[in-house]
Amino acid sequence: MNKETGAILVLSGPSGAGKSTLLQEVIHDIGECYFSISTTTRPIRDGESNGVHYHFVSEEEFKQDIEEDMFLEHAYVHGNYYGTSIKPVKRALKAGKLVIFDIDVQGNTVVTNRLGDITTSVFISPPTLSELKKRLEARETDKQEVIDRRIKMAKKEIQRISEYDFLIINDNLQEAADVLRIIAKAARMKVPGNQINEFVQKWEDID
Ligand code: ADP
Ligand code: 5GP
Repeated sequence: MNKETGAILVLSGPSGAGKSTLLQEVIHDIGECYFSISTTTRPIRDGESNGVHYHFVSEEEFKQDIEEDMFLEHAYVHGNYYGTSIKPVKRALKAGKLVIFDIDVQGNTVVTNRLGDITTSVFISPPTLSELKKRLEARETDKQEVIDRRIKMAKKEIQRISEYDFLIINDNLQEAADVLRIIAKAARMKVPGNQINEFVQKWEDID
């Protein structure tokens, strides 16, 4: 089947599960894609750059964007606002790219409801809660109270794994990356409802 539209790959999972690390592992092997850079009000971490990891804005600017309907979805996560801007996503989809979102469970619900027929969702989990704690502490990007809040959130997020198409347990990084490569390639092959209807229609037109 001829696939003209792009597709969406949602990655969710507790902060520290390894979403960014895994994505870096596979990004050069999965064809043309666009990583959606979210907008956030959270403070910038050491090693992060504005416009690369996130667009870092004030709460006032974020609320202005909400009013102007700039977001495909937005959510309040771990005490900060995060949102996905519509425009670049539309552009990338039009260009037939695989658009990758690193968003939380609330964001996945909205994206799946709005664009479900071109969306594949993956929940990335650490093998255990204690391993998650270890990784967050080793990453050295957050204060202890922030880490504690993220661990608490992780327990809630894990409850919603069944809302996802796939679960990757990121224990061995290379094995997890292999699975993500396969899922990303398959995500591109997802055929939107209107294309299926067109295909079926062609069959009905043949006597
Ligand atoms: P996320 O993007 O989900 O918040 P990161 O990619 O920043 O998570 O990973 C959190 C920390 O865990 C990083 O220090 C990273 O190097 C480490 N990490 C990621 N995957 C693994 C793995 N499979 N085994 C051990 N450490 C890992
Ligand atoms: P972090 O602060 O660790 O970068 O991200 C915290 C959480 O916010 C992660 O679960 C991440 O997936 C989520 N997140 C990042 N950007 C967005 C976004 O645009 N929308 C939503 N809903 N969640 C996001």
